[in-house]
Amino acid sequence: MIYNCCMNHADILKKNNLKQTEARIAVLSIVSRTNKPIDVKTITDFLKKLGIVADQATVYRTLQTFVESGILKRVEFNEGKFRYELSSLPHHHHVVCINCGKVEDVEECGMEKVEKKLQKKTSFTISDHHAEFFGMCKNCQ
Ligand SMILES: [Zn+2]
Ligand SMILES: [Zn+2]
Repeated sequence: MIYNCCMNHADILKKNNLKQTEARIAVLSIVSRTNKPIDVKTITDFLKKLGIVADQATVYRTLQTFVESGILKRVEFNEGKFRYELSSLPHHHHVVCINCGKVEDVEECGMEKVEKKLQKKTSFTISDHHAEFFGMCKNCQ
């Protein structure tokens, strides 16, 4: 067993009734170790370095399964691709530099007011929202 250090990832799979495969455990561990949302290609490259053979389509399907199970969240930074991060992270948004791609977490949300207004206006119960912010970082301005 190579992934002794990552037993919690195996447990996450078990809890979600997902088969525990080496690739799935490795994908989870890669996503949870990077502190920024990560894309399919980067994950596939990491797996290769770990000696795990999985093509990009397989990794994509794995990520899709994790999103459907609620383990991962998909984020989109207007790059024409998805990135992934753990759903278990505290609620936050991202600010993305449109020049160099630098990403920072935004902890304060401020969207509760908007949600309340929207609930009143539409009679929907709002359960979630997504918002990413784009601009230029200090270095690129
Ligand atoms: Zn920048
Ligand atoms: Zn928010």
